[in-house]
Amino acid sequence: MDHIFENTEVAFSLKSDSELERAYFLFKMISIEPLVKIGSVATNLAIKAHLPIEGLIRSTVFDHFCGGVNEEDCLPVIDRLYEKGVSSVLDFSAEGKESAKEFDAAMHTTLKIMDFANERPAMPIAVFKPTGFGRFKLFEKLSKGDSLTAKEQEEWEQVVYRYDMVCKKGKEHDIEVLIDAEESWMQKASDDLVTKMMHKYNTEKPIVFNTLQMYRTDRLDFLKQEHQLAKENGYYLGYKLVRGAYLEKENERAKDKGYPTPMCSSKEATDTNFNAAVAYMLDHIEDMSIFLGSHNEDSSYKMMQLMAEKGFKNNDDRVWFGQLYGMSDHITFNLAERGYNVAKYIPFGPVRDVMPYLIRRAEENTSVAGQTGRELTLLSKERKRRKLN
Ligand SMILES: Cc1cc2nc3c(=O)[nH]c(=O)nc-3n(C[C@H](O)[C@H](O)[C@H](O)COP(=O)(O)OP(=O)(O)OC[C@H]3O[C@@H](n4cnc5c(N)ncnc54)[C@H](O)[C@@H]3O)c2cc1C
Repeated sequence: MDHIFENTEVAFSLKSDSELERAYFLFKMISIEPLVKIGSVATNLAIKAHLPIEGLIRSTVFDHFCGGVNEEDCLPVIDRLYEKGVSSVLDFSAEGKESAKEFDAAMHTTLKIMDFANERPAMPIAVFKPTGFGRFKLFEKLSKGDSLTAKEQEEWEQVVYRYDMVCKKGKEHDIEVLIDAEESWMQKASDDLVTKMMHKYNTEKPIVFNTLQMYRTDRLDFLKQEHQLAKENGYYLGYKLVRGAYLEKENERAKDKGYPTPMCSSKEATDTNFNAAVAYMLDHIEDMSIFLGSHNEDSSYKMMQLMAEKGFKNNDDRVWFGQLYGMSDHITFNLAERGYNVAKYIPFGPVRDVMPYLIRRAEENTSVAGQTGRELTLLSKERKRRKLN
């Protein structure tokens, strides 16, 4: 592959000079670690104290990483991306909810987005997070194999109902449903349920997708077992492949509780595991679809390379690439320019509810040992090209 991701003109073609300057300023600020640390604490406190800082957050980090506070807000973003051949996956990102009322509201929002998406080719994919539809502790208890009380059993049936409603609508509207993966100690309950949904709705093609976090040592075997099961029962598989977002938390918990960590022992081991899963899925593409959720250039090049070797068309509808809105535009837009299927996850929701998400994005982009982060390097390169500095 020639180095297509280096083209910053394509990468930032949607950004006006002033938007480029704003993004540059933002990444410059969040590259300063102490600022992000203090900023995160201060912002959380200010929000709790109901100080009027939402305007400030909106005009800085929020607008860069989120589509808006509701789905209508996201429309201009969706249209602009689609002009460049990039699809949108609206992600209702309210986190840390605990009540049935809130879980029902998240389900209704997801269903509403899917009705909204039904009329828009720019939105072929929907997404939800397991703990957006049910209590973390309930997933955890089931994952451990503990039996539920009658009340908990009723509560779980509601979770099953929420998964089912969304997957059913996915099938009705031909919208793929990607279900996120979270901490390993709550994941099994969701995995079992998603397998059931695949069995029910992936009869003609992959509609329901689970997520495989390849930093887990057991996921490649899991993929192979699920493949066997799907073949025996005659349904298709769909998987979003990611490396995994909870590495430190996973390792710390394993250490605290004294069990062997389920994580790969190094970044290289995760990469090897990730590449093996990509290869396995492309080798068996007649039975499954893949959504590569990654900001890693090598992983993206590798999948393009494998597709070419196997004679797949760039826009083969079983193969998708995906990045988060506000990050890795050099991968997204250069893939779209070559005709690959590529989507942006666009988080939206009330400012206070998406704060944990925004803080994670800021932390991820703080500078490591004084190095300039990748986003900042790309933005600098494009500023120079446009002679803005
Ligand atoms: C569209 C999209 C959807 C996503 N959905 C989910 C989801 O549902 N669930 C989820 O958990 N995450 C999800 N993620 C986040 C993802 O898991 C990664 O955290 C993130 O994308 C960074 O990985 P990378 O492949 O982009 O790149 P890289 O920067 O190459 O990889 C970083 C990742 O490598 C792994 N790693 C780093 N150091 C080590 C080490 N010492 N030992 C072992 N492994 C290590 C970690 O997983 C780390 O996040 C999603 C990401 C995208 C883009």
